[in-house]
Amino acid sequence: MDFAELCFQRIPFKLQFAYNAMIRGYSTHGFFEKALFLYSKMLYSDSTPPDKFTFPFILKSCAALSAPSEAREAHGRIIKTGLASDVHISTSLVDFYMKLGEVGIARQVFDKIPLKNTVCWNALIAGYAYNESDVEAVDAFKWMIELGFEPNSSTMASVLPAVGRLGDLEEGKLMHKLIIEKGVEIKEPVINSLIAMYGKCGEMETARQLFDEMLGRTAVSWTVMISTYAQNGKFAKALELFICMQAYGVKPTAVTVASMLPACADMMHIKLGMKVHGYSIKNGFDLDIIMSTALVDMYAKCGCIAEARRVFDEMPERNIVSWNAMINAFGLHGQVMDALEWFAMMQLNGMKPNGSTFVSLISACSHAGMVAEGLECFKSMSKDYDLVPETKHYACVVDLLGRAGRLKEAYELIKAMPLEPDDSAWGALLGACRVHKDVELGKMAALKALELKPREPGYYVLLTNIYAGSGRWADAQKLREVMKEKKILKEAGCSSIEDGGIVHSFVVGDSKHPEWKKIYKKMEEIEEKLKEEGYVPDTSLVLHEEIEKSERLAMHSERIALAFGLLKIPDGIPIKITKNLRVCGDCHSAFKLASRIYKREIVLRDLRRFHTFESGNCSCKDYW
Ligand SMILES: [Zn+2]
Ligand SMILES: [Zn+2]
Repeated sequence: MDFAELCFQRIPFKLQFAYNAMIRGYSTHGFFEKALFLYSKMLYSDSTPPDKFTFPFILKSCAALSAPSEAREAHGRIIKTGLASDVHISTSLVDFYMKLGEVGIARQVFDKIPLKNTVCWNALIAGYAYNESDVEAVDAFKWMIELGFEPNSSTMASVLPAVGRLGDLEEGKLMHKLIIEKGVEIKEPVINSLIAMYGKCGEMETARQLFDEMLGRTAVSWTVMISTYAQNGKFAKALELFICMQAYGVKPTAVTVASMLPACADMMHIKLGMKVHGYSIKNGFDLDIIMSTALVDMYAKCGCIAEARRVFDEMPERNIVSWNAMINAFGLHGQVMDALEWFAMMQLNGMKPNGSTFVSLISACSHAGMVAEGLECFKSMSKDYDLVPETKHYACVVDLLGRAGRLKEAYELIKAMPLEPDDSAWGALLGACRVHKDVELGKMAALKALELKPREPGYYVLLTNIYAGSGRWADAQKLREVMKEKKILKEAGCSSIEDGGIVHSFVVGDSKHPEWKKIYKKMEEIEEKLKEEGYVPDTSLVLHEEIEKSERLAMHSERIALAFGLLKIPDGIPIKITKNLRVCGDCHSAFKLASRIYKREIVLRDLRRFHTFESGNCSCKDYW
């Protein structure tokens, strides 16, 4: 470019094509300001007016510099010189206005193009997709096909993300078929978009098949597949692929890393989380707000509050999501005073709390049994912060009151809600009724919740437990039969524990682990010791008549994970287990005793919060 510049300056009488060549060179190499400067020079000289070869690069430069006034000036000139009918120039205009978010103007420009081609259709569809006007993007695509234009790989790579966001699997499948029928060149971006689309529609198997059949996978394709798993909650698969990717010699990018962190958090795979963190630093990835917040969240959910805080403190700037991540972290650990302190601190730092902040705060109070404080937070939401409570906030307050045994008040609150209550509010009441053994109210709450979400196994299970807990075995049995009839499967409890860089997951009564015999021997030993210490299994919640009750309880997935941990994790290191459901009362008592017998700190993160068991006690103070 330097040499070209020198030559250009030496031309005494510059011709139009020389200007155009320079402008094209500048804009292609990212010197957008220089391109615009030269353009202004062209305008001043009568002999070299800009022409159809100039404008596309000027518009491109304007888009890159987000310079709308310059672009509008150019647009005016394009109309005046009669170049608006030039498909190439108009396409640049569509593209420019779309990038600016001016979807309506872009569409007007598009409509005025007399002879359209695939490229200008692509600009329209990509523009809609860029602005997440997904319905319009798909409609434009259909319209294009109807009019007989041939889609190419860019068309498909633009429209498929829109279909994915709409979650329209049928449309997605049709497009996949179309790609094959029309013989669209299957380039990598097309396959990546197909994978992401199937993933967004929940069709993980098809997505994976496409990925496996792909030749020459780049870091982008690996990342697409990994984040697809992470978005679908298949964190173990995401982890597996992340490790596999490096084994194939493909280097993860910042995007890969950012999509990995939630997976590490979910599996409580702190070692990998730290590796990912270290990897980002070593590779000089920009630890921007999004990445840093993901790190804070990951450390907090792995039980490393101090580390989460360190990352938070080092962040050059923070947004509301970063503050919420910290407040939520304290709540998960039952440190409600810290949560409230940070809530005050965030405001001192000029940050206005939002709806999510209050969800975290009220649940923190709820976990700690601080009803008055929780109610205070809820009230101040609308009074002091001008926020309108949503159904999720009401559900939190119902939970807060319900756990404390104030079931009637919780019920009154639901009835007085200004919004239509959703199933989560009734579900919270139902959960509270189970703890406080209120059969009648529980039954009513269950019916309401199931009316709104008829196939939620959790509600059936809670009601079954309420019946069983109060000795109404016949009712419990009947409900189980209803579930069977409707083919509603109870979500299987699954517990995971990390050892030697590998996450080991167990389900109830699991015997798939290669070392299961050893693990079961250890479990028997634990049961023996527990009984010696006076542990009596609470069998009130178990309904499997065919198997001896206490045996069944001892098979809960967290017990298997605990036995594995005691076998594998060296003395002095806390045993960290995650569970996808709430821990049952019986396992909770067993864990407390085990922490004393084995003199081990056991950390259990269940669906709701962290439990840290130490010397026979739990950090939740049995309130969870
Ligand atoms: Zn259990
Ligand atoms: Zn606990």
